[in-house]
Amino acid sequence: MVDAAADRDDLAVEAALRPKDLGEFVGQTRVREQLDLVLRAARARGATADHVLLSGAPGLGKTTLSMIIAAEMGAPIRITSGPAIQHAGDLAAILSSLTEGEVLFLDEIHRMSRPAEEMLYMAMEDFRVDVIVGKGPGATAIPLELPPFTLVGATTRAGLLPPPLRDRFGFTGHMEFYAPAELERVLHRSAGLLGVHTTDEGAAEIAGRSRGTPRIANRLLRRVRDYAQVRADGVVNQESAARALAVYEVDERGLDRLDRAVLLALLKLFGGGPVGLATLAVAVGEERETVEEVAEPFLVREGLLARTPRGRVATPAAWRHLGMEPPQQPAP
Ligand code: ATP
Repeated sequence: MVDAAADRDDLAVEAALRPKDLGEFVGQTRVREQLDLVLRAARARGATADHVLLSGAPGLGKTTLSMIIAAEMGAPIRITSGPAIQHAGDLAAILSSLTEGEVLFLDEIHRMSRPAEEMLYMAMEDFRVDVIVGKGPGATAIPLELPPFTLVGATTRAGLLPPPLRDRFGFTGHMEFYAPAELERVLHRSAGLLGVHTTDEGAAEIAGRSRGTPRIANRLLRRVRDYAQVRADGVVNQESAARALAVYEVDERGLDRLDRAVLLALLKLFGGGPVGLATLAVAVGEERETVEEVAEPFLVREGLLARTPRGRVATPAAWRHLGMEPPQQPAP
């Protein structure tokens, strides 16, 4: 219960920290410039903006950008997600209640059901859907006109989308991981909004451990703020940040408890691998999916773990990161 309340609290803070317009949105220079052109041109024509697809890892700002698109177009926004739309009827209900120019944000668009996806093709292209009434041979399709709207789809990987869907977006923005200097700007901005005094060194310490991700940077800032408030003088500086993040088991490179458990098991129990994912997951007492989707992407990106056809393998950098000597390669 305490955790649920804390989560709700965090969600409310996260919402409060969202940049409200493109000018406030830090980093992603290319996507920002491209989107700015798309939106300005649409506004000048008095038209609804083209459909936009945003791809990138979780927490990089896709939801935030969709809200900014709506704000810049002076339009309302409706937020839903692929997994929430299991039947075409669910989508028809949403589409038919949109107002002219409204932005429909569809998170995890690659997880929509097939029939809903097919309905979306027609809605995106012709602003029309066929609502099927009845079943079997007596079923009839009733065409329904829709007002022009802007679909903003978000996906972790654009490659997961079927080409007919991908091609119906007028613009695709690829969100990159943030550079440390950009995360420092995000942190200073958030600290200002939260009223937390943060030094440059404090922001740099948190940025370096934030995995290139603003959501993580903001979350770590809140934990460091708690620590600084309870155990120090309330200021987020290098020392309070390093101490706080040690308490929360986030190391200098941003690895957390699970990441280190995976690496340690790989090194200590399996001599650095190769070992199968299922075995590795059992060794750390986690679900296979948790290891694969939560820990591994970052470990692979950091060059600490490799996925090979024979299983997971630790790189020499992984041994060194955990303070161990990599084994000697056998002579060829
Ligand atoms: P998910 O796909 O997991 O929902 P997301 O990509 O939609 O993630 P957001 O929810 O938009 O990510 O962003 C997470 C948090 O990070 C927000 O609270 C927002 O304040 C902050 N944030 C994201 N991008 C930026 C940015 N460019 N500048 C400042 N803050 C940002």
